[in-house]
Amino acid sequence: MYKSKYLNELFDGVKTKYSNEPEFIQAVEEFFDSMDFLVEKDPNIEKSAVLERLIVPERIIQFRVPWVDDNGKIQVNTGYRVQFNSAIGPYKGGMRFDKSVNLSVLKFLGFEQTFKNSLTGLPMGGGKGGSDFDPKNKSDAEVMRFCQSFMSEFYHFIGPDMDVPAGDLGFGAREIGYMVGEYKKLTHKWGRVFTGKGMSYGGSLARPESTGYGLCYFVEEMLKTYKNTDFKGKKVIISGKGKVSIMALKKAVELGAIVVGMSDTSGYIGSDKALDYDEIYSIANNRGNLEKEYIKKHSDVKHSSNPNDLWKIKCDIALPCATQAEISIINAKELKENGCYLVAEGANMPCNIDAIRYFNENGVLFAPGKASNAGGVAVSGLEMSQNAMHLTWTFEEVDSKLKDIMVNIFNECYKKAKEFNVPTNLALGANISGFLKVYDAMIQEGVI
Ligand code: NDP
Repeated sequence: MYKSKYLNELFDGVKTKYSNEPEFIQAVEEFFDSMDFLVEKDPNIEKSAVLERLIVPERIIQFRVPWVDDNGKIQVNTGYRVQFNSAIGPYKGGMRFDKSVNLSVLKFLGFEQTFKNSLTGLPMGGGKGGSDFDPKNKSDAEVMRFCQSFMSEFYHFIGPDMDVPAGDLGFGAREIGYMVGEYKKLTHKWGRVFTGKGMSYGGSLARPESTGYGLCYFVEEMLKTYKNTDFKGKKVIISGKGKVSIMALKKAVELGAIVVGMSDTSGYIGSDKALDYDEIYSIANNRGNLEKEYIKKHSDVKHSSNPNDLWKIKCDIALPCATQAEISIINAKELKENGCYLVAEGANMPCNIDAIRYFNENGVLFAPGKASNAGGVAVSGLEMSQNAMHLTWTFEEVDSKLKDIMVNIFNECYKKAKEFNVPTNLALGANISGFLKVYDAMIQEGVI
């Protein structure tokens, strides 16, 4: 229930109209929590119907993706791109390949991406796409045929000044390579249309590291500002063992943290002492099963086949980096009871809205993904700049720009949260800061 009657009516409409889109409803609900602080101060928000316009994607593209598997059988998946908002720049946002992909998930991701991209300070609009295709247990040849079929329809809708996709869950360097190759073949243009590209064809150094490293830079600022401390000696748990998680692990350890728990879809491993990081990197590189593989060499760790048991481990800091809806209100309470005082989202919306409200009301510092995981898209923006200038910056140059961007994002969010007398509410700071730039652009561009 919001203080504003206007927001209550608008949200009731969202719930009715999109009743089969729970992830999208949660993203809007969480955003409106922050808008409740703003709409009465600025009547033009209601008058200009900017929120009504913001919650509807500018365009949704959906298409058939037929492909032939290694047994010669024809398979059919669905491809999507949600071009959510281009007020401040071309659509930008990752592609997700996972069984769970549907329009609700992609709409929530595209909506969040709009504010995340705005927070980076770079001229990028919000979009998200993907398919219900599951690349797990597929051969490279199957993934290639799928990507080529996907691109044979998708290429009509993307371009450096229109929409520049990137990777996300289930969509990494391999998939980007196949997509770029096919795009080039179909258009006779070099593939400046994806970011996250390999270094041999226009990628940026530090892009693979960027989301996980950026998350740690953001957490460092939180620790410094709110607790006058840093990562050294802090016990950290990280969910997932994918692109974001592994780089968060690497940077957290480099900054002095002790990572005591990790997970993947097969289960979790946890300990009172530091985990064996080299073993985890090796399992992740070989796309192995974390719980089963790790305990072969370390039988003394706690473990189970339920990834959610990770949140029961004693820790100072939790970094959910796997997927959406990982942390329920029950997990939030377990974390607090076990001493966790800081939760920062590496994944998109891993915390349910009740968990976020619980953290904010119970003294657990909380960083929303749209701010704390913005490092990936920020370096994607830097990759676009390097491509446009035909330059390659060094790892150190990109990493230093990434750090500056993450520190700026934290400061923006913190400043806004303080302005509204809720200095620890970084979700409010992120939502309002991200929104104001998009709002301004939408007003200046007229009713379109
Ligand atoms: P990956 O596919 O590389 O990795 C995802 C990891 O999460 C895998 O290890 C997977 O396990 C694990 N996982 C999935 N579901 C669960 C679960 N329920 N419990 C525990 N582990 C689980 O994806 P990314 O690392 O790229 O993305 C992760 C998250 O970060 C997503 O929410 C994405 O939207 C977000 N994000 C990613 C960015 C990027 O640059 N890649 C940028 C910003 C946000 P398994 O290994 O068993 O499959």
